[in-house]
Amino acid sequence: MFQTKYPLAFLPTPLHYLPNLSKRLSYDIYIKRDDQTGLVTGGNKTRKLEYLIKEAIDKGYDTVITAGAQQSNHCRQTAAACAQAGLECHLWLNGNEPEIYQGNLLFSHLLGAHLHFSGEKAKGRKFALQKLKTFLDKQGKKTYIIPVGGSNLTGAKGYIAAMSELKQQMQTQEIDFDYIFFATSSGGTQAGMMIGREIFDIKAKLMPILIDKTTDFEVPLQETIYDIITEYNKTGPIPVDIAPDRITVIDTYNKAGYGIVTEHERQAINLLAQTEGILVDPVYTGRAFYGMLDMVKKRSLPRNVKILFWHTGGTPALCAYSNDLKK
Ligand SMILES: *Cc1c(COP(=O)(O)O)cnc(C)c1O
Repeated sequence: MFQTKYPLAFLPTPLHYLPNLSKRLSYDIYIKRDDQTGLVTGGNKTRKLEYLIKEAIDKGYDTVITAGAQQSNHCRQTAAACAQAGLECHLWLNGNEPEIYQGNLLFSHLLGAHLHFSGEKAKGRKFALQKLKTFLDKQGKKTYIIPVGGSNLTGAKGYIAAMSELKQQMQTQEIDFDYIFFATSSGGTQAGMMIGREIFDIKAKLMPILIDKTTDFEVPLQETIYDIITEYNKTGPIPVDIAPDRITVIDTYNKAGYGIVTEHERQAINLLAQTEGILVDPVYTGRAFYGMLDMVKKRSLPRNVKILFWHTGGTPALCAYSNDLKK
């Protein structure tokens, strides 16, 4: 199931200790560097795209379309993957075209992706992607749709495999984690981690910090994750037993809404940058990192536990939030 991928990522990504932060917080904290996967500054979508791009090529597609926010890391990594694989790339982006291209949007442009701006109405992306596919297919292209965030079973395989990679690193480095913190948004990463955790027998509790407001979802995130797990069980080599009520997210830190930078994200970005020289991003990893800090500071986690923060990337977005971050 995992042999068939199109190689795009630099793997394994490093897993290392954060000595200064750990000392500051009196907890043992490690980091998994999926901000170093490659594909123009890296990120979690690279692992998913190895499987998605492989499927597109195997099925004879020559064009890829996907959708996201203007600062979508997923869209930027898709653009880079398509450039590498020789596929034409079209991106459906929320909102009106800005005067100045920054961060991920600039990178997607440089990577040769065709950019389509939705205008005011940001909802109904599934329908918009279908319409775009019909339009491109009429021109003789064979268009492969990658869902928002690459979150279907094909994409999630990247994170099933990532759990095997983590398990090996845990064995080599002789560490047992109690908690794994990460940002969850379109669900593919969480679904893959939940499946991989069962298959590879990792005891650590997953701590998915929800990024978006619950009301932003057309389908509840837990349902999307459950669908991916169900789909996996129909085809996967080792079925997993995950009841729907075990699929939970931590929805404490999402109140400002998607892409809104608050004092929380700023605090998280500054702390990790200034203790360890590592940047988290303003939309996803900054928020997830703040959630972890908050739970550590409130002593909601027992003492003497080992914590892993899974850095899922996003650094280019920092360059598009200069006004919010230069405070
Ligand atoms: C997309 C993204 C996530 C969330 O992953 P999902 O699989 O969509 O839940 C987390 N962090 C970053 C930096 C991302 O770009």
